[in-house]
Amino acid sequence: MAVKVLRCRECGAEVPAGPVYVCERCFGPLEAVYDLDALRRLPLRERIAAGPRSIWRYVDLLPVDYDPAVDLSPGMTPLVAAPRLGEALGLRRLYLKNDSTNPTWSFKDRAVEIGTAAARRFGYRVLACASTGNLANSVAAHAARAGMRAVVFVPAGIEQGKIVQSAIYGPTVIEVEGGYDEVNRLCTEIGEEHHWAFLNVNMRPYYSEGGKTLAYEVAEQLGWRAPDDVVVPVASGNLMVKIHKGFGELAELGLIERTATRVHGAQAAGCAPVAEAFSNGGEVRPVRPNTIAHSLAIGTPADGRYAIAAARASGGRVAAVSDDEIVDAIGLLARTEGIFTETAGGVTVATLRALAAAGALDPDGVTVAYITGMGLKTANALAGMVAKPVRIRPSLRAFEAAVLTTTA
Ligand SMILES: *Cc1c(COP(=O)(O)O)cnc(C)c1O
Ligand SMILES: [Zn+2]
Repeated sequence: MAVKVLRCRECGAEVPAGPVYVCERCFGPLEAVYDLDALRRLPLRERIAAGPRSIWRYVDLLPVDYDPAVDLSPGMTPLVAAPRLGEALGLRRLYLKNDSTNPTWSFKDRAVEIGTAAARRFGYRVLACASTGNLANSVAAHAARAGMRAVVFVPAGIEQGKIVQSAIYGPTVIEVEGGYDEVNRLCTEIGEEHHWAFLNVNMRPYYSEGGKTLAYEVAEQLGWRAPDDVVVPVASGNLMVKIHKGFGELAELGLIERTATRVHGAQAAGCAPVAEAFSNGGEVRPVRPNTIAHSLAIGTPADGRYAIAAARASGGRVAAVSDDEIVDAIGLLARTEGIFTETAGGVTVATLRALAAAGALDPDGVTVAYITGMGLKTANALAGMVAKPVRIRPSLRAFEAAVLTTTA
């Protein structure tokens, strides 16, 4: 049941669902519209339970039909109880949604798979994107899967791991001398000249809906209930907005009790336009990013305003943490729960820690932190921070001598 209508988030104008993304009247962003009355008549829980173990089990609530040609099976990632991290932070019922286990090891696969299905439906042959790394990885992989050409644009200076992980799938990788915000501006210009599907630009109304599945899955994995607090990393703000929307839709559809999940946003202090606007109560002002959390380094967040609205409407907060706190939190998560996340996950865990310390989270409620990307992608950020291996000659005596001095 692919959506037939897109609606402007600002003025409410509606247009037929096509490869369009801004309102002709007011330039506001367009969003997919669902027929909730028709959906309410479906046995949704049964349909979901009978679906595949991927985001496609929620196809009734997604803007495109299932397309096997693009299917890398993202989603249904583990929701794990985190008692040891919870104890360290004073949270008794902490869970981690480990989205680093997706096909290209970040949450972006959810959005890209839906955006790629939309691109095929609209007859595009080329997938493209402006990316801080993870999006490029996912677009390149999905193009390979679908037999499409891919051209991905990244800022100069992102992690080598993310370059390699894009290039291996065979796209054209363009490294632009500038930051993400310049890359994005260039891509908007290219999009006006070339008939390409830019996932985060002209496919955005479809692509962006992928984030909702991170609310759906958590609710389903908790036995169809919503958490009390969630902590979400914020770059453009899209994921935070869509997680908030996702829980709201489940309540409207009667799949969960009407809930009051507080949706909290997490940013790096070196790029915190949303957190700053949240605390000073003003507009989101552009910043020049300077942080190790490259995947969150968007200085002009397209959905920043809506992310703040989601926090305020739900009783959540948006907070920022330093690069040192990010590195520290990556280690804490790894040591307490055995999960190795990238810098964006460090932002989430460090913010979780700060919010817990500030009393912003219910210590007895269910808290879910979204771990959105995998640690090897940004291993360079930890250079010099992890213990060196104990080097020995291959003899029992050398081993025992070394162990006696290191385990004391
Ligand atoms: C893109 C990204 C996010 C969040 O992105 P939004 O633009 O705010 O939706 C979070 N974590 C990782 C690892 C990402 O790559
Ligand atoms: Zn409008």
